[in-house]
Amino acid sequence: MTDSEPAARRPTHVVPVGGIPIGGGGPIVVQSMTDTDTADVEATVAQVKLLADAGSELVRITVNNADAARAVPEIRARLEADGPAVPLIGDFHFIGHRLLRDHAGCADALAKFRINPGNVGRGERRDRNFEAFIEVARDLDKPVRIGVNAGSLDPELLAHKMDENARRADPLSAEDVENEALIESAVRSCDAALKLGLPETRIVVSCKVSRLGQMVAAYRELSRRLQFPLHLGLTEAGMGMKGIVATTAALSVLLCDGIGDTIRASLTPEVSGDRTREVRLCQEILQSLGLRSYRPAVTACPGCGRTTSTTFRELAQDIQEHLEHKLPEWKGRYPGVEALTVAVMGCVVNGPGESRAADVGISLPGTGEQPRAPVYIDGERKLLLEGDGIADDFIRVVEEYVERRWGGA
Ligand code: SF4
Repeated sequence: MTDSEPAARRPTHVVPVGGIPIGGGGPIVVQSMTDTDTADVEATVAQVKLLADAGSELVRITVNNADAARAVPEIRARLEADGPAVPLIGDFHFIGHRLLRDHAGCADALAKFRINPGNVGRGERRDRNFEAFIEVARDLDKPVRIGVNAGSLDPELLAHKMDENARRADPLSAEDVENEALIESAVRSCDAALKLGLPETRIVVSCKVSRLGQMVAAYRELSRRLQFPLHLGLTEAGMGMKGIVATTAALSVLLCDGIGDTIRASLTPEVSGDRTREVRLCQEILQSLGLRSYRPAVTACPGCGRTTSTTFRELAQDIQEHLEHKLPEWKGRYPGVEALTVAVMGCVVNGPGESRAADVGISLPGTGEQPRAPVYIDGERKLLLEGDGIADDFIRVVEEYVERRWGGA
């Protein structure tokens, strides 16, 4: 490892979820969640397909009442019949123990159950409900995500922690106390699940909060105390640019520390927005960090006063769109092509350097430069393009490169 690479992944147990291993240093798994009424089978199947087709390797659906629980086997059956056969995770709160007990078909159809220890009841009922939930998972050999959340933290535990803190000579901040309570809730729940006979290879843990610094601190502590795979997410990240930036920042810090085995981006889509953006964001984060490859990467400069034409912007866009368009076909014909890197640069200042660093790169002529574009292949200047057809010529060069490098694989 070099200083510029993410730290080695921390060792964890491996938890198989519908045939997909989570943890153990394996690929970080991307997951997402539907926002349809689960009882609406058509709508839910359609959205699960969209998310899975976008690359979500696991899809979570809420199971919030008996109608939703009854719909789950039908959703599973439709996905098995028409594909994609993506594993489904059931998200349970409040009455999950009853829904799982009363709807055996639902429990059977799900690849993993998510339980929120803050939402299983109060006092003695909490323990009984938690036990009933874990017993179903244990008896069916299903993995469970113990998912604590600051928005639904057990109030009795938080109050106890606050009282304890008030007696300290040097009290912690409210945020630190909340983190202590979140972590204790997760750790106690894991201990209880193990005592009930759930194997350690059937537990995934998450600890979601909506504030970035708090989330990072919570996961660092969890990763120190537990050996279970961790599901990362900044909960309620928000809409648009804010949600994307906050999620990227939070997940990147932890992933660079080697923490995190499966991730989700909790973006709020715009009205009629695209739910699959949360999947794309997770993929872009993992690819940017060099942890997984999903699609060829285009390095392009932002442009500046040294290039007055829009030629390089158009070329960068043409290349990006061409690669996106070709990717489904290329994936079948050229295994490994996701690792392709292409550079489209605006002028001679950084153009040759970035173009050499890519598999295929072009340095366009900036203001005052000769109207020619040198093309670099595998770090060497190989040809010079000029005239009106530079974009088409360059795309041809990229296609020939792909065929040459991955065509015989
Ligand atoms: S490579 Fe050239 S055109 Fe692009 S940002 Fe740098 S100086 Fe400007």
